[in-house]
Amino acid sequence: SIQKKLSKAFKNLKGQGKLSEKNIKDAVREVKMSLLEADVNYKVVKDFVERVKEKALGKEVLESLTPDQEFIRIVRDELIELMGGNEKPKLNISKRPGYIMLVGLQGSGKTTHAAKLAKYFKKQGKSPLLVAADTYRPAAIDQLVQLGESIGVPVFTGDRKNAVNIVKEAMDYAEKLLHDIVILDTAGRLHIDEEMMNELVEIKKLVEPDEILMVVDAMIGQDAVNSAKEFNDRLELDGFIVTKLDGDARGGVIISIRQITNKPIKFVGVGEKVDDLELFYPDRYASRILGMGDVLSLIEKVETEIDKEKAEEAANKFLEGKFDLNDFLEQIQQIRKLGPLSKILEMIPGIPKEGIDFNKGEEELKKIEAIINSMTKEERRKPRIINYSRKQRIAKGSGTTLQDINKLLKSYEQMKKMMKQVKKMKNKKSLFGKMP
Ligand code: GDP
Ligand code: MG
Repeated sequence: SIQKKLSKAFKNLKGQGKLSEKNIKDAVREVKMSLLEADVNYKVVKDFVERVKEKALGKEVLESLTPDQEFIRIVRDELIELMGGNEKPKLNISKRPGYIMLVGLQGSGKTTHAAKLAKYFKKQGKSPLLVAADTYRPAAIDQLVQLGESIGVPVFTGDRKNAVNIVKEAMDYAEKLLHDIVILDTAGRLHIDEEMMNELVEIKKLVEPDEILMVVDAMIGQDAVNSAKEFNDRLELDGFIVTKLDGDARGGVIISIRQITNKPIKFVGVGEKVDDLELFYPDRYASRILGMGDVLSLIEKVETEIDKEKAEEAANKFLEGKFDLNDFLEQIQQIRKLGPLSKILEMIPGIPKEGIDFNKGEEELKKIEAIINSMTKEERRKPRIINYSRKQRIAKGSGTTLQDINKLLKSYEQMKKMMKQVKKMKNKKSLFGKMP
């Protein structure tokens, strides 16, 4: 990962107070490579690197950060800026009904995202109408009809022949039935051609949509940028939906598109299902493009809050199987210093956020803390001695129940078992996710 490479590039920099042309050279190269690999346009990368250099040079490194962290932070902030900074993603719908027109190449995800948007609005209590204006591929109409059925949103198909006519009729229909949002699914081609563009221009003139959004497949990389430019030149887009970000695509396309067209990314598609739609927030994707998850801010927190030596000591004890309830308590207290559990988990990539009851997690931690606090030093060191009468005493002292205590002891036992297995693992550093 770039983080590793950067750490390596900076290995000899510890103790130096400033970032300089010489000491950031390797790191700059790594950033450049990683952006190119993520499919960011070459010219965009070149300008970007210049700006990062300018910002980094002569920069004092904050005491709490190592030079590589300081550098990564500059890179990250610049990346966020490139993708639109802190602007909030939003649709500007002023008409009633409001019209959203989706355009883009064939296979980019227009039909799928028409349905996703419809569901998105329906959840907000709106009454959307889908319009099947892709007459180029008959199957596309059926696809939209099916999707509409699955989410309970009506689909207007008209005569299934002339896209412009279908849209015209759909406008009347939407007004009559009091729909407040109309989403137009239009025809794409494998490549841009005049016939398609003319049809889109005609529909645009007719509808004067509140939002014309181009749907772009993140997987197609550089080609996406060229077609985005062409669509934008012809249709004056309002923004983009970048799709298939659930796959391997690193999302550099997002930066390129934004830079070349200067139009915002409004949504991203993260899967084939109708719920796989997210509003686009630049900061979440900055780290993804660098291939380091959203881990940066966590690093900063951990570095300043957790006593490194204590963590290492705990890691060693853990490996030696000497990890007792005292250590357990200490770890919990360290974690709690970082802030609410929900915030901590948010910063770690790959953890599903649905289905976790953060309040409950918080409660659990508090309970565990209370229980261990009610134990004697000896009990913490040798949990084995905790018999029934001791449990009763601890329960009283901590305001918990016997079940709570049994649960804690059980999870401690499981942890010990896990330790035995971990001991066999060679790389002890991966255990506590040693920070660079
Ligand atoms: P259209 O030709 O532009 O209308 O594209 P479709 O909506 O028919 O989508 C083309 C293919 O891409 C379909 O198989 C979709 O299921 C798939 N697809 C669309 N959006 C996404 C996405 O965000 N993630 C993934 N993995 N697949 C997607
Ligand atoms: Mg389609």
